[in-house]
Amino acid sequence: MSFSSQGFSPEIAQALTECGYEKLTPVQQQAIPHARRGHDILAHAQTGTGKTAAFSLPIIQQLLDAPKQVGRATTRALILAPTRELVDQIANNIADYTKYVDLKVTAVYGGAKMSSQERKLENGTDVLVATPGRLIEHIELGNLNLANLEFLVFDEADRMLDMGFIGAIRTIMSGIAEHPQTMLFSATSSAQMNALAQDLLRKPKRIIVNEENSTAATVFHVVYPVDEERKLELLSELIGRKNWQQVLVFVNYKETANDVVKELKLDGIKAVLCHGDKAQSSRRRALEEFKSGKARVMVATEVAARGLDIQGLPHVVNYDMPFLAEDYVHRIGRTGRAGQQGHAVSFVSRDEELTLVQVENLIQQRIKRIQLAGYEPKSRDALLTKMHSKPAYKDRQGRKNNPQQEQSSAERRLKMMRAIRNKSKGE
Ligand code: AMP
Repeated sequence: MSFSSQGFSPEIAQALTECGYEKLTPVQQQAIPHARRGHDILAHAQTGTGKTAAFSLPIIQQLLDAPKQVGRATTRALILAPTRELVDQIANNIADYTKYVDLKVTAVYGGAKMSSQERKLENGTDVLVATPGRLIEHIELGNLNLANLEFLVFDEADRMLDMGFIGAIRTIMSGIAEHPQTMLFSATSSAQMNALAQDLLRKPKRIIVNEENSTAATVFHVVYPVDEERKLELLSELIGRKNWQQVLVFVNYKETANDVVKELKLDGIKAVLCHGDKAQSSRRRALEEFKSGKARVMVATEVAARGLDIQGLPHVVNYDMPFLAEDYVHRIGRTGRAGQQGHAVSFVSRDEELTLVQVENLIQQRIKRIQLAGYEPKSRDALLTKMHSKPAYKDRQGRKNNPQQEQSSAERRLKMMRAIRNKSKGE
């Protein structure tokens, strides 16, 4: 299905052509016709499926079809997203789609100056993209009034719930008078998500793209079994030997991220960092360097990299397996996007094997193991001794997304690993 058949204005169609969009992706095919007719939407679609265009193009076209002078400190459309990076990304995409029309697009998020955002909001805006926390600050200061909002989108709603934004969402909703056309996009579903959808949406059209918790069919998954202490060398060797040019590496801890970047630099591989301790400006610079190819590797923690769109990314490496199998799906969502091929490479030490099994169960696929000569993991006996004294495994089974629990289990695991390391150093 082509964009020209969807009745978009020639200016929008031209901009989409320049973005390289020829055909609609499955989520766009399903969502755009309903959204154009003004229906609420509940969509289960991962990042990478083209969901940003799926919700923003119908809004843009409807704004153009019914032109209005925007009032002071108001917006006609509001898009909420969980992180600054995602807000930036959505706003940039919309700016690309609207480059030949006269619509004002504004982004607001924490970590940036209030004053410059205030000035942008002052004269009103057509489309506002925001993180919930910063949006509430602006509302409380009287910089923004949502009473006459026409369009409302919740992007990555599951992440917003995970990050504890439920209270913020309810506060925002209390300031909206009429029911705007509302669309809720989420990669996963849960009881809490369904309850929220029931509150927010009116007779929504339901859209499901990909089975829940599945990864794109264009991603090749491989596992390299390797001992924890050999992972640094293995990463450097693979990048060099296979001549990987753009690699996003996921780690579980900021400390590991720092170590990996240091090691890669020593090996002459330009790498940048993206984790929660880094200032917003430095994360953005890292992302720009990585996207533009100035840096070959970006090493990131889960939260910092949430929702990042890095177009055409060929390689994602799980240096550490994630604590939750569901997070494997989120991480891998950065590759194999919009029909392109991607490679998902996981380094699995003996004590991460259980997580690997959970991942395989979740994605319903057995992942190919590649044993690189010289990197064979040590014997299993040591692991068995460790496993029998390991409470974290018990806790990890059957857990749901719960950041609180995730953190405490992660901390426990870190402590345990440190204890094991210290013990083996002392032996
Ligand atoms: P998203 O899921 O919105 O993060 O989009 C993932 C990537 O797919 C982004 O880089 C988009 O620019 C790209 N994209 C979205 N729609 C299309 C399309 N119809 N054709 C080609 N690429 C697209």
